[in-house]
Amino acid sequence: MLIVMEHNACDEDIQEVKEAVESMGLRAELIPGSERTAIGVLGNEGYVDEGRIRDLPGIRDVIHVSKPYKLVSRDFHPLSTVVDIKGVRVGLGEKPVVMAGPCAVESEEQVLAAARGVKAAGASILRGGAFKPRTGPHTFQGLGIEGLKYLRRAGDEVGLPVITEVMRIEQLEKVCRYADILQIGARNMQNFDLLKEVGRTNHPVLLKRGMCASLEEFLAAGEYILAEGNPNLILCERGIRSFERATRNTLDLSVVPLIQEMSHLPIIVDPSHATGKRSLVPVMSKAALVAGAQGLMIEVHPDPARARCDGAQSLTCPGFEELMGELEKLMTFLGFA
Ligand code: PEP
Ligand code: MN
Repeated sequence: MLIVMEHNACDEDIQEVKEAVESMGLRAELIPGSERTAIGVLGNEGYVDEGRIRDLPGIRDVIHVSKPYKLVSRDFHPLSTVVDIKGVRVGLGEKPVVMAGPCAVESEEQVLAAARGVKAAGASILRGGAFKPRTGPHTFQGLGIEGLKYLRRAGDEVGLPVITEVMRIEQLEKVCRYADILQIGARNMQNFDLLKEVGRTNHPVLLKRGMCASLEEFLAAGEYILAEGNPNLILCERGIRSFERATRNTLDLSVVPLIQEMSHLPIIVDPSHATGKRSLVPVMSKAALVAGAQGLMIEVHPDPARARCDGAQSLTCPGFEELMGELEKLMTFLGFA
């Protein structure tokens, strides 16, 4: 529930509402605005009876928020969140950030070659999976802890923060030790226990949209992380399932501006998993920036033909460098210095 105060409500009015909310066993969070103050009511499981609040002095409106999320919504938190990853800032108003690297860490040499390539081309964050959620059990499942170490070493060597996927709660402590951003993959978007656990850390988190998740379910999954106290959340659109099989998934670009209306959280786009096709990655990267994405996640492999995972959608290092040159021009055109 959101209580909107009159613009001339005084501090005593606000305090009285706060106390009334707290007397109901709930929490009141003040949201000061330039025109008026609002009070977010937290801690309720279901509908809150407004009877004890409605007629208090200074109240303009009581809005029942029936959506399954509140903390992620812009109504509740009008200012855009900027997530800081070792000085790399992701959020509205910041220059879009490019995260790039191989789908999977395959060897120390492979991830280092990718790290050097993406760093030289201007990427800000190195990606690489150590624990891979593969469709079938007979394919490469990732190097595990060894992969985390190679990724960290490669990131340190070239001076880039690193992002990698955490699939299970038991891996969380180790992944936190080696990675700067925890990635929750599409297949785990509704693994609520995992979401709660990453919400209890203070690590930046990248939450990828589930391939069959509605926007409401996506935001509700983000709510799990914020509700545990971790505000450092970045959302990622990576394509959804549709009847179309010509592309791996269907990139739902309209959620980018929609999420910006509905939520204060940064939203980035992964054109690699969205399309599954190398030839489509550059143009959809540009389309994502035009739609307002605050970053991109792009798969880059030093030798895509020999990649153990997702080679068909991976750019080569020279291909990525060419794309970065084009993105730089586009960003200048879009007003980013
Ligand atoms: C990935 O980014 O490594 C990945 C597996 O992507 P998704 O979870 O979006 O399928
Ligand atoms: Mn991949």
